[in-house]
Amino acid sequence: MLLRIRLRCAARWCLLLLVTAIVQHTCSSHVAAAPAEQSKSQQQQTEDDIYRSRAMLYRQISKKTGVPWYRLAAIDQYERTLTRVHPKDRQHAERVSGIFVNSHVWSGQFNPDQEDQNPASIAFFEGFGRDGSGDGQANPDDDMDLLFSVAAYLANYGQAEDKFHIALWEYYHNSRSVQRIRQFTSLYQTHGTLKLNQHAFPLPLSSDYSYRSTWGSGRSWGGNRIHEGTDLFARYGVPVRSTCYGVVEVKGWNPFGGWRIGIRDIDNRYHYYAHLSGFDKKLSTGDLVTPGQTIGWVGSSGYGKPGTQGKFPPHLHYGIYRDSGLSEWSFDPYPLLKRWEQMERKQLKKR
Ligand SMILES: [Zn+2]
Repeated sequence: MLLRIRLRCAARWCLLLLVTAIVQHTCSSHVAAAPAEQSKSQQQQTEDDIYRSRAMLYRQISKKTGVPWYRLAAIDQYERTLTRVHPKDRQHAERVSGIFVNSHVWSGQFNPDQEDQNPASIAFFEGFGRDGSGDGQANPDDDMDLLFSVAAYLANYGQAEDKFHIALWEYYHNSRSVQRIRQFTSLYQTHGTLKLNQHAFPLPLSSDYSYRSTWGSGRSWGGNRIHEGTDLFARYGVPVRSTCYGVVEVKGWNPFGGWRIGIRDIDNRYHYYAHLSGFDKKLSTGDLVTPGQTIGWVGSSGYGKPGTQGKFPPHLHYGIYRDSGLSEWSFDPYPLLKRWEQMERKQLKKR
């Protein structure tokens, strides 16, 4: 049985590779691009193919179950970000869906066969697994079976938004997970696309600014903390722009960061903009932002009570944190800032 599944998976992959090869061959035979350009367009092609396969999968399952595609997409994406931070605990075959279900959850906690793929016995042991592909098997590595199982679980709760949140809570028992999936749902539903990975540099390239890699260095205020970000020095009032498509998660005063704003992106990264002189007044928590949208202005707020400013030269402190499901950790934003700056410079030249 396992061999048959493996062979089936292998056959699917061969077909996918063949299609990709044909598409790439067709492209390369018509466009005589420079080698670097070519690999970039191929990369774009692969990325577009991935988005297309995902969109097709969500549409199919949504049609079958009535569960909106953006809810399925949000759960799938959240699960994908969890696998990224816990690859060892969530090992699975290469597939379109990022959802990972533990074998005891899939087959049923008291099921003596933890590898069970028989929908009837899984149902008997109240397991999560369902057969969505119609092949008589509930395979936790089959995209259709996985997404269908999630959709069937959600459908039990009904379509209302509050019921959807209850379903998420009862599945994850983690308020952070519920919050993330709600944020992702709102991003997908509003923009109507899965492709939300474009970025912008946080300051207008036309403004006068300077920055260098200072991540991890010591800090002068607030005790023994390392510097979790990059400082971009610029004049008071220079616009601060969102670097991504995202949801405003935090907005207000913090003794360290002063007036600060935190934005969650679709890759489950938290973008932190601190020491602002002010925010865009129309923005509230839960609002959506797009790359390049002005969210506030450079200032020197922080290091004291609300309103404290001028204790250091005006700059934007920009940090990025990755969510591991239970906690968050900071990583160096400098290489990303460099990349976004270069990309934007290139785009400006093209205009
Ligand atoms: Zn800083």
